[in-house]
Formats: sequence, C-alpha cells, structure tokens
Amino acid sequence: MNYKDLADLIFPDAKDISYYEEKYPERNLKEGAIVTRFAPSPTGFVHIGGLYQSVIAKKLANQTEGVFFLRIEDTDQKREVENAIKDIVTSLKDFGLEPDEGMISETEGKGNYGPYKQSERKEIYQAYAKYLIEQGKAYPCFCTPEEGEEIRAKQEAAKIRPGYYGVWAKCRNVTVEEAIERIKNGEKYIVRFKSPGREDRKIKHHDAIKGNVDFPENDQDIVIIKADGLPTYHFAHAVDDHLMRTTLVIRGDEWLSSVPLHLQLFHELGFKAPKYAHIAPIMKNDNGNKRKLSKRKDAEAAVSYYEEEGIPEEAVKEYLLNIANSNFENWRRANKDKSIDEFELQLNKMSVSGALFDMVKLLDIGKTVISRYTAEKVYDEAKKWAERHDEELNKMLEDKEYALKVFGIERGNKKPRKDIAKWSDVKENIEYMYDDVFYSKKRDYPYQVISDKEKIKKILDLYIEKYYNDNDDKDTWFEKIKELAGEMGYAKEVKEFKANPDKYEAHVGDVSTVLRVALTSRTNTPDMYEIMKILGKDRIKERFEKGI
Ligand code: GLU
Repeated sequence: MNYKDLADLIFPDAKDISYYEEKYPERNLKEGAIVTRFAPSPTGFVHIGGLYQSVIAKKLANQTEGVFFLRIEDTDQKREVENAIKDIVTSLKDFGLEPDEGMISETEGKGNYGPYKQSERKEIYQAYAKYLIEQGKAYPCFCTPEEGEEIRAKQEAAKIRPGYYGVWAKCRNVTVEEAIERIKNGEKYIVRFKSPGREDRKIKHHDAIKGNVDFPENDQDIVIIKADGLPTYHFAHAVDDHLMRTTLVIRGDEWLSSVPLHLQLFHELGFKAPKYAHIAPIMKNDNGNKRKLSKRKDAEAAVSYYEEEGIPEEAVKEYLLNIANSNFENWRRANKDKSIDEFELQLNKMSVSGALFDMVKLLDIGKTVISRYTAEKVYDEAKKWAERHDEELNKMLEDKEYALKVFGIERGNKKPRKDIAKWSDVKENIEYMYDDVFYSKKRDYPYQVISDKEKIKKILDLYIEKYYNDNDDKDTWFEKIKELAGEMGYAKEVKEFKANPDKYEAHVGDVSTVLRVALTSRTNTPDMYEIMKILGKDRIKERFEKGI
C-alpha cells in the first residue's frame, strides 16, 4: 500500500494534472503584461474596497496590455448570498470595469481559462489534491470537530500558538494502511496539506506595495479539501491563480499574513508563484478613531450607494485613483482635460497604510467632472438617474428643450459652473427655473443690504417697466442695472461706493441682489443674465410681483 493507493481511494475519478496543465497553457502575452483579477466571494453587497481593487487591477492590466479577469470565489456555500454574483457583475459594468475574461453574468463566463466560478472547478481542485496525496504532501485527517475544539482549548490553556501543526497534527502520522482502512470503514475525513515548514525559519518576501517583509515559515497543516469536497480559499487560490496564469495577485492586505502559506503551497505544487500586491483598506475617521469602512455601519461602504446618490462613476473612479497614487493630484492639475485612462498608475506609489475616505473630496471631484459635461450629457445623466430615483425631477425634465437651456447656463465656457456634485443635487439646483415647483415651495426671500419693502418694490417696478429689454446683450443689460442703481441714489460702481462709504446707502451689487432674490428666492445662483433670458419678461414680472 502506498500514497498512490490512498490517493486513488480518495479521488478515484480525478484526472492527471497534466490534463489541466495542457488545457490552460501559459498565456501568449507581451513581456511585462500583467494578468490579474478581482476574486470576490459572493457573500453580500459589493464593498467600495472591492471596487478600489478592481480599478487598480483593471488599470494595471490595461497599461501593460495584460488581462483583467473576474473569478467568483464561492467555495464557502454557507455564506453565499442570493443575487450577490449578479451585483458584482453589474457593479463592475456600471463603473466601466468590465473584465476581459471571467464571469459576465450569474452563470456565464468568457475566456479560455474557465470555469471562473470556483464551485464549478471541484474536479480541478481534486486533481491537484490527489497529486499532493500521491507524493505524501497531503493526507486525510479524521479529527472530528470536537477533537479540533479540544486541541484548541489545550493550546489556549497552555498559551501556545493555535492550529494544526507539529505534535498537534495528529493525523499526519496515520499510516497509509490505517488511513485506507478507516476510509473503507466509512470514517469521515477532510484533506490536509502536509506543511514542510518550520516556524523558527524565516522567509523573505517582496510585496509590490508593502515592500520587503519577513515572515516565519508556515508550519500549519491547513485543510485543503473540506468535507463537502470543495477547497478552502488557500488551496483554491494556488490552483486557480496558477491555472489562470495570474502574474500579479492584487488583494486586500488582510491576506498578507497568509503569504508564507501561499508561497509554500505554490512551491509544493510545483507552480511558479505569482507576485503579490496587498492593498491597504479604505479607512474612515470615526470620531477621531481610524477604522475600516464597515459594511454594517457605513452607507458609503456599499458600491450601490454611489449609484443611489447619483455620484458619477467617473468621479468615483477618479477619487479612487486619487487615494491609490499620491501623485495623481499633480497629474490632474497638469492635465485638466485628460481622461483618467491616460494616468499611469504605479504600484510602488501606493500607500502602505489605509487612506482615509473623504466624502468632501469625492464630491468636489464630482463637481469638476460634471462641470466638464455638455448640457446634453448633464441632461442625459440626470434624466437617467431621475427615472430610477426621483419622480418629481423626472417630470421636470420631461421638456428636454427647456432643460437643456437650464443646464446650459454657464456651461461650455472657460469657467463652467461647478454647482452639481451628484445627480441628486440637480433638483435643488434647478427647481427655481420651474414655475410650478418654485411657487409650490415655501420661499423666504432673503433680501440683504436693501431690505426695505418700499425700496425693493420700487427697484423691481422700475426695472421691469423702464430698464428691462428682452434683446439686450449682457453688457447693455448690466449697464441698465447700473443706471437703475443711479436712479435709486445708490453707487453705480462698487469702487465708487468703497471710496465713499458714507455717501451711499448701497451699490449696484446690492441692486443685483434684490433682483436675484426676487427672481429665485436665493442669494446665490449662476449667471442672472442667462436666467432672465430663459425666464423671459412675463415670468420675470410674475416673480417680481410675488417676490414682495
Ligand atoms: N475571495 C477572497 C476575498 O473575498 C479573495 C482574495 C483574493 O483576491 O485572493 O477576500
């Protein structure tokens, strides 16, 4: 009886690994091409950290003419959540991060290195587990969960390292004969890796982000095949990233401490190990405490949040690049109009510790991104968002021609307006341009320096009767407001006012404010000339009458 007999007994139908080695050959890519992946478990909503990893992975693959693929890691079937795969696929699509290869829907994958869903790769893992058993590098373990508990309790009481290793790895010493007999007798078992490592020896590892790190070798006989016949994460990672010919594993830094185990697995399996890049998580400042963005506590941890708020995907991606590489900001300053696709991401410029999530900064980027859009694009995006999330706004936008005029205010020029950060801002932003909405809401008319009712009335009357003309160009329009200020006895120029503050009660700017507040019930709006042009004389008049 030898290892081969044991392996045949455990996995009688498994193919020889040469079959898979041939089926999934080395990729024919140019030198330096990065093959990388996003490998989420379908255990809940997509976390912004996952999107962050995907942005980085896709960018590096694109930059090097490599491959970015999506693999679904669903070997922990108890934790699987319904629709999670669909969510992952859609989120990547929504953010323009479609994989070159891998899962493209809940059930379909594309590419020659699939299946890309781990639950469909059972026989592949078993082939490699069998291969390890044949060489005495893996063995069946008959310890029951209760025995596992017992071991743990003893280790805890003795204050020693927990785990299945050294003297604690009981089944390591079960002979092949005994193992075969126990299996034939129907005893339950799992398959463990026989670690060749020693805790008192160190390995050196170079991580593409974290730099050089030293670890003790792994000496744990970890489980590779569970009772349900599926692999554990560690084993699947080695087999999949080998067969899918991944060159760079980009993943969360919670996996950094598993590197010694993973390198050992690659080595014992006879695989060339990939490079690793361990990404620090996105953090949040919670009352002075820095902690990870949490799925449970923080709405912004979910990728769906950004769609619901209407933050443009371009802004989210740009923001993520901002946290990824500290030189991004300078690049952006020097290349205001370039697409982020032109930015060259560098792994060695990634921060080693977690960046703080900054919503203010993200919204600021949102404003800049939207300011570059044409009125047409703003309209399309706002409409699309409104259809899903805001019935009232959707109605307002029915008249496309009018909406385009509204969105066209101060847009397409050198200094475009920057007042919309996200599509959910739009309604608040434009509602005063819609009479029914404007009049249906409570308006409080915050008049400023000139607050006397009589004077306000006089300004508004004079303006509409004497000074307003539909055909005035902007300069004439403003000249007339100056004239009006003069007629009221106010300074026609701010300069003049400043030179003689005692001589004047107000200046031309204060007159503008009166007009603006009466028109919109706000002190701050984009260009009033353009607003008046869109409203036209009758609507201006009506607003003035209601504005007092
Ligand atoms: N399925 C693992 C996770 O969700 C993936 C880690 C990896 O990318 O290898 O964390």
